[in-house]
Amino acid sequence: MKISGDWINHSGTQALFAVLVKAGYQALFVGGCVRNALLEVAVADIDIATAARPEIVSNIAEAAGFRVIPTGIEHGTVTVIARGVAHEVTTFRRDVETDGRRAVVAFSTDVAEDAARRDFTMNALYAGADGSVLDPLGGLPDLTARRVRFVGEPQARIREDYLRILRFFRFYAVYADPNGGIDAEGLAACAANAEGIEGLSRERIGAEMRKMLGARDPAPAVTAMAQSGILMRILPGSDAKALGILVHLEGDLPPRWQRRLAVLGGADPGEALRLSRTEIGSNTIVRDEIGSALTSAALGWKLGTEAASDVVLCRAALFETAPPENWQAEIARGVASSIPVTAADLMPTLQGTALGKKLHEIQARWLASDLYLRKSDLLA
Ligand code: ATP
Ligand code: MG
Repeated sequence: MKISGDWINHSGTQALFAVLVKAGYQALFVGGCVRNALLEVAVADIDIATAARPEIVSNIAEAAGFRVIPTGIEHGTVTVIARGVAHEVTTFRRDVETDGRRAVVAFSTDVAEDAARRDFTMNALYAGADGSVLDPLGGLPDLTARRVRFVGEPQARIREDYLRILRFFRFYAVYADPNGGIDAEGLAACAANAEGIEGLSRERIGAEMRKMLGARDPAPAVTAMAQSGILMRILPGSDAKALGILVHLEGDLPPRWQRRLAVLGGADPGEALRLSRTEIGSNTIVRDEIGSALTSAALGWKLGTEAASDVVLCRAALFETAPPENWQAEIARGVASSIPVTAADLMPTLQGTALGKKLHEIQARWLASDLYLRKSDLLA
């Protein structure tokens, strides 16, 4: 079995393999790039696993004229920029002991050991520089069937690194066969170890949740998280019920994790997932307007296309109603509108706070009229 793609044939990538192999070290593509190439979906970043230790990788790559960044040298990872392409090169590793937050590892020269410490069988696939696939654990049938299964015994693997619970649901959401169901043994192990999530950093949880909620249809994964008591630990006060309806209403719209997060609710997603200030602001605006009476056009004027669409779709999903007819055209009408009365129309009769109050009142009337009141109506 062979994978192919422009990214494999890139001269910088091939040159990097060539110098490692020439120095006598095994080097293989691994993880996401091999998995995605086999699934024929876009390859985002290139991970390479090698028998060479990180200092040796650095020396060899620098001698070949490539730029080397010591990304995580203590974990065995350096980034090599070869002719404009970044490669995360990680020395083969085996697990030794763990604290449940990050696996503690030792370097290895054996690809089978390296495979055994990876999270899921579909992520433990390797390929040589020519694209020929190496499958030390027999993960290919799982990938073909789009089954997300832990490498080894799920309970033990989760206790080594509780982030694997979130990764299990993330990979299920993004890659699994929706008709295949979730791996029962993996799910049970996640449920039984749910409290381990408490020790994880919010940043890492947030990063996994974003990727998961950005999947085409994250509803089955999130529902499984809710049923196994994991969602309430991650996002207290949230409710997964409306998510499936939202995804259905979205149709062919590009997925947005922010929209899915808004429909889940939750007491404090900003804190729970360490969202940025901007992200917290957008989440709050959308959630506030879900309960407002503003029409699609008014939302378009006030929030712009993206947030207005999120509000309309979340409202419909949460209240189990159809979105208003022509809602997208209505939002566009709002986006293209400008309020017909400005401060200049009221001055100098009104000034200061009185002016502000009047403008506010006029704006509210205009929004309530679905943007149809004209200047003369509003000044009357
Ligand atoms: P993507 O980049 O699309 O998110 P990926 O599979 O490349 O997917 P990464 O987080 O980049 O995911 O990790 C690269 C590889 O490292 C994974 O495919 C997996 O083999 C391994 N890996 C990553 N995180 C863990 C973990 N917590 N436990 C065990 N193995 C892991
Ligand atoms: Mg990756």
